[in-house]
Amino acid sequence: METVKDLIGACNTGLARGLSLQIIAVMNSLVPNVLVNFDDLNVDVEGDQLNPFLQPAAKESLRFAIKKRGKKLHVNSAYRTVVQQYLLHQQFQRGLCGITAAAFPGTSNHEGGLALDVQDPDGWEPFFEQHNWFRLGRHFDFPHFDFIFHAATREDLGSIGVKAFQRLWNQNNPNDRLTEDGDFGPQTEARLADSPVTGFGPSARRLLRLEDPRMHGDDVAELQKALLKAKIIKVDIQVTGTFDMATEKALKQFQEATKRLGVDGIVGPMTLKALGL
Ligand SMILES: [Zn+2]
Repeated sequence: METVKDLIGACNTGLARGLSLQIIAVMNSLVPNVLVNFDDLNVDVEGDQLNPFLQPAAKESLRFAIKKRGKKLHVNSAYRTVVQQYLLHQQFQRGLCGITAAAFPGTSNHEGGLALDVQDPDGWEPFFEQHNWFRLGRHFDFPHFDFIFHAATREDLGSIGVKAFQRLWNQNNPNDRLTEDGDFGPQTEARLADSPVTGFGPSARRLLRLEDPRMHGDDVAELQKALLKAKIIKVDIQVTGTFDMATEKALKQFQEATKRLGVDGIVGPMTLKALGL
């Protein structure tokens, strides 16, 4: 089993995506709707390292800024889980992967759900500024914007993220419990380093569907490959292992083309069989 500490030299925090998505799901169970997916906006958010999540108020402001400019926004970095921040911090401390600065896990502004790194920051700045997104750290972090707190935003997401990991660990290791205090202390750090990169739990067959946060795994990759191979449809999707909107669209096309499956965008036993999985 590959654990988080095995990834320190890998220079790709996206390799822990399974665990990251589980942590985001627990955060949303601790505080309902604390993070929302923004990949339904006019944005380009490719890559496993990138978790397209923001606090709801920050997302709504972003929606207006993008609409105002009428252009697609290319995002390089958005929400970072405590796993990703741990990896970056380790890489920074060990002089690996060209990381020249990284905040202590639980304290990065990218763990707050109120930060974005974007392409063409100069072009976006006037539109962002009208909607409470500011370039506070332009001197040290050129493409970085922060959404300025107001009544509808929370400042404690870093701590909620750590607490979510502690809760997740406890759910899966009832005989080795961590204190759920939201502090990234040595006990928590040691357990995080030993956690499976693909996340906890059985690998039993899940019902695949479009969800928030997005489902991710080998089963999704198998589905995407099967959709590409299916002779009754012609779809243009990529095998990313993430069940995104493009995957749902292709799946519905497939279901419709069979003329006998319900077009619900959910991979149940009938659809699996029809796909030859
Ligand atoms: Zn940044």
